[in-house]
This record gives sequence, C-alpha cells and structure tokens, in this order.
Amino acid sequence: MSKKTIPNLDVAGKRVLIRVDFNVPIKDGVIGDDRRIRAALPTIRSVVERGGRAILLSHLGRPEGAGYEAGFSLKPVAERLSELLGKPVGFPDTDCVSEASAAAVKAMGDGEALLLENLRFHAEEKKGDGAFAAKLAGFGDVYVNDAFGTSHRPDASMVALPKAMQGKPRVSGMLVDKEMRYLSKTLANPARPFVVVLGGAKVSDKIGVIENLMPKSDATLIGGAMAYTFVEALGKRVGDSRVERDKVVVAKKLIDEAARLDHDMHVASDHVCSTQMSATSGDIEVFEDHIKDGFIGLDIGPKTQSEFTKVIRSAKTIVWNGPMGVFEMLPFRVGTKVVAKAIADATDKGATSVVGGGDSAAAIEAFELSDRVTHVSTGGGASLEMLAGKKFESVELLDEA
Ligand code: ADP
Ligand code: MG
Repeated sequence: MSKKTIPNLDVAGKRVLIRVDFNVPIKDGVIGDDRRIRAALPTIRSVVERGGRAILLSHLGRPEGAGYEAGFSLKPVAERLSELLGKPVGFPDTDCVSEASAAAVKAMGDGEALLLENLRFHAEEKKGDGAFAAKLAGFGDVYVNDAFGTSHRPDASMVALPKAMQGKPRVSGMLVDKEMRYLSKTLANPARPFVVVLGGAKVSDKIGVIENLMPKSDATLIGGAMAYTFVEALGKRVGDSRVERDKVVVAKKLIDEAARLDHDMHVASDHVCSTQMSATSGDIEVFEDHIKDGFIGLDIGPKTQSEFTKVIRSAKTIVWNGPMGVFEMLPFRVGTKVVAKAIADATDKGATSVVGGGDSAAAIEAFELSDRVTHVSTGGGASLEMLAGKKFESVELLDEA
C-alpha cells in the first residue's frame, strides 16, 4: 500500500508540521555536508509555495536531553536552509515547546517557514513521550513525516506525535516517499538480474539484508571487512583481517543457503593486504585465497574487482551497501571505486541502482558518481533496516493514498 504524500494534500493556510532529518555534521558552527537539508527542500517548497505554513522539527546529534546546549543548536541549519530556500526561515527560541516557540508559530503567515530548536534538548523525544508529543501536536493542522533517516526510530516526534494528531491529515514527505519507492517497492518487483553488493565494516549489520534479499535476487557480491568472516567460513586463512568470530556460523549458513537456492554468491577471493591499516603503509601485498599471518585484508584484489564488475555490468537492478575496502585511505580505495564505476556504467545502460549506507554514499560522492546512479539513500541505519524488510511504525501510521 502506498502512503498519501504531501503534494496530494491541500495545505493553503494550514499549519504543516514537517518532521525532517536535519541531523547534519556541524563543527564549530559550520555545516560539513548539507545533503540532508537539500533532500528536504522539495517537501518544504511544496508546502510554502502553495501557501502552507511550514513548521520544521528535527533532532541534531546526541545532547544530554536536559535543556539547551549551544553545540547542538539547529541555528546554523536554519541559516543554511534560508539560503537554500531563498527566503527567511524563522528560528524562534532555544526550546521547541516554549511559550516563545508557540507564539512564533501563532504569528506565522501563509507561505512562511520556521524551524524549531533541537527536539532532543528534551529527553522526552528519545523516550517517545506522549505529553511532549501533545504539545507539538498543538502547533499543527497537518503532520508530515519526511525524516527518512530517523523513520526506523520510535521517537516522540516520529510516532507519538502523529498518533496525537489522529483525525488530522498525516502524510509522507517527498523524500520519505522516494526512499520507500527505491528501497522497498523497486526491490519487491525487481528487473532481473538483480544483484546485491555488500561490504563495509560489520557482518552483524548486514545479516538481515542478506536474509531478506537473497531469495529475491540473483547474485550477492561480498567484499569489505565483512567478507573476512565469510572467507573464514569457507575454511581459508584470513591472517589478521577483521573477523567476527561469533558470526562465522551464520556466514556458513548463508553460504549453504545460497547453494541450496542456486543463488550466485561471490565472496572476495583475492585481497589487497598490509601489515597495518595505514595510508602510508609500505608493505602492501595481494594474496589469493589464503592471507599470510601478520597481514590484514584492506581491499578486494584485482581478480575480485573484475569478477564483481562482470556480474554488476549484467545487472538490471543493483543494491549496493558498504565499501569494498578502507576507501578513506588512498592505497585501499581502488576496489570501492571500481565497483562504484561498474554500478554507474550499468545504470547508464538502463539498470536501476540504489546505494544505501552513510559511508557508501560518502564514497560515491567522493568519486563524483552520485549523478550516475538512480538513488543514493539519505538514511544509514534506516536504509539498512528497510533493505532487511522491516516495517516502520512512523510510516505505517500515515494515511493511505
Ligand atoms: P555504510 O555506512 O555504507 O553502511 P559501513 O559503515 O558498514 O558502510 O562500513 C564502512 C567502513 O568499513 C569504512 O569506514 C571502511 O573503512 C570500513 N572497511 C571496509 N573494508 C574494510 C576492511 N577490509 N577492513 C577494515 N575496515 C574496512
Ligand atoms: Mg557506516
């Protein structure tokens, strides 16, 4: 079932509470990456351009939850948003539910936008508190969930707030709608071959994704640090590579399951290794199959790169989550770059490609390939949970289309 989205709702003259995810990196008052702010613009514009009053709610970081902390203020975000929107964005107070905030909301005119201060200055936000949500609910006639990156969390503004607004319109924003379309609907009925590319730090983060997608897809490619748990499960020596010992049994089970389903699973088979995880490490060697003691696997090797490229190039649907190596360090970047390039090439030839995960998104951005894939998710944990087939209460309780 699809959820009703904001463009399909009349908002003129209405107070529209929009829960966004403006949890952006800020250092000394300067915003590092404003992708999440830009991603919320279509929804905000859809409201203000049609004469709605956009009241924006967000969290930022992990403050104590005992009141205002300057280091976690959303003020720099209000300023950046104002630049991006090309109009003033109100930022009334240090407390999102104070008298001053309430007065500012009341004084809004049609087509105006306002951002309330960090929701997490109140511990009630993380606790999913109903009384706190009821105060926020009093500010709006309409609720919009456009906070994709937070939609897997049962926080007050995500669940208790829309519940408190029952009877009023509760819809999804355009970002949430887009993320759902690519991370859930496309994959429910994928064009084939459907290839899942997984890497990154931890197997434990990705087991749910493999379990959910393996029966739906044709091939799974496994690289990154998580590959070494699978390499170990295959009975090969991994040297000093990162292995999650308590997940070797699960990895073995997934390998056997792939064989049973006649699923084309590829675990990285050669590895760029070094004796230390360092950008200036001199002793870099490539090992096939077994890794020598004292060496750490830090990237997929050339043989694996061409094997993965070949499978990706034949795909019509691709999901990628997790870098193939320590892409932050120049000597171990190649595998991730080759895979990203193959995904972009396949997309040029008509495949649908979806990239999930914060580090994978950062990698594809660094390679300047973001524009050559179909969708780069703004959610880290949320995109993983969605790829694992989980349902989010914050989305479930929105109005049906
Ligand atoms: P995402 O954020 O895209 O979901 P993860 O957080 O799971 O990805 O993993 C990203 C991290 O995994 C990166 O910081 C990268 O350096 C690290 N990584 C990838 N391959 C290896 C490896 N072989 N050894 C150690 N770390 C690795
Ligand atoms: Mg990550």
